[in-house]
Amino acid sequence: HAKNSSENQCCFFTRDMNEEMSVKGFRESDIRKGLEAREFQLYYQPQISVADGEIKGYEALIRWEHPEHGLIYPGDFIPIAEETRQIVPLGRWVLEEACWQMMSWWKEGGTVSRVSVNISAVQFYHPNFMQMVTDVLAESGLPADYLELELTESIMQDPEQAVFIMEEMREMGVRLSLDDFGTGYTSLSCLRNFPLNSLKIDRSFVVNMTQDSQEKAIVEAIIHMAHNLNFNVIAEGIEHENQLQLLYDKACDEYQGYYYSQPLPPGAERVPERV
Ligand code: C2E
Ligand code: MG
Ligand code: MG
Ligand code: MG
Repeated sequence: HAKNSSENQCCFFTRDMNEEMSVKGFRESDIRKGLEAREFQLYYQPQISVADGEIKGYEALIRWEHPEHGLIYPGDFIPIAEETRQIVPLGRWVLEEACWQMMSWWKEGGTVSRVSVNISAVQFYHPNFMQMVTDVLAESGLPADYLELELTESIMQDPEQAVFIMEEMREMGVRLSLDDFGTGYTSLSCLRNFPLNSLKIDRSFVVNMTQDSQEKAIVEAIIHMAHNLNFNVIAEGIEHENQLQLLYDKACDEYQGYYYSQPLPPGAERVPERV
C-alpha cells in the first residue's frame, strides 16, 4: 500500500530538473500564464488606529485564484516568482491593481485611503523600480502619499544602496514601512539611517505577548525605539481583545489582524475571524 501511494506521488510530481519549481509544483510559466489569464486577485486587510479604531489604510495581499487548485496563498508562489524574477511583472500588476482600487473606492465613497503594497527585494533592486512606481502613480492618479511600500529586512543586504533608493522614494512622496520587523538581521545602527514612516512588528512577537512577560518586554522596547526614531508602529496579527488592550497601554499606533478583519476581496463584507 505504502509503495503504491509513493508511486502515485512520483507520477503526480514529475519533476523536470532543469526547471525551477515551487513546493506546490508551480513554475515560472504557470505564473506568467496566470498573469495573462488574470487569475491573481488582491485581498485587502485594514490597518486600524489603536487609539480610536479608525481605518487608516489597507494592506494589499495577493491571492491566486487558480482554475484547478483553488485559492493559493502567497507563501506558495511568491518565492518561486522571486527566484524566476516573475515577481517583476507580477509586482507591477499588484501595484497597478492596488492604486486603481484605491482610486475606484475614492470615486465611489468620496474619501481616499492609504494602501500598503508588499515589495520583494528583487523588485526593489530592479533598475526600473523607481520609474515603474512613478509611472503607475501617474497612470492611476493616486497621490504618492497614499501609497506605502512595505519592505522587508532582506532589502538591507546592501544598506547603502537601500538608503539611496528609499530616499528617492521618499522624495517622490511615497511612504515606506519595514515589514516583519524583528525577524531579520537589521542592525539598529542601520535602522536609524532608513527614511521610514513606519515599522511593523512581526506577528511572532505579538502572539504570546499577553502571557509571556519577555515577549511583552520586546514589543514594548520596539514601540519605544520606533517612536524615538520617529517611526509609526503597526502590530501585525492581532487576534484577541487583550492583545489590543496591551497595544493601547503601550501606545502602539496601529494594528492589523483577524480580531478586526481577515484580508478580504474588494466589496466583501467585513468578517472578523474569531480564533
Ligand atoms: P506580510 O506582508 O507580513 O502579511 C501579513 C500576513 O499575515 C498575511 O498573510 C495576512 O493574511 C496574515 N495575517 C493578517 N492578520 C493575521 C492574524 O490575525 N493572524 C494570522 N495568523 N495571520 C494574519 P498572507 O496574505 O498569506 O501573506 C503572506 C506574505 O506574503 C506577506 O506577509 C508578504 O510577505 C507576502 N505577500 C503577500 N502579498 C504580496 C505581494 O503582492 N507581493 C509580494 N512581494 N509579497 C506579498
Ligand atoms: Mg506586509
Ligand atoms: Mg508582515
Ligand atoms: Mg509576515
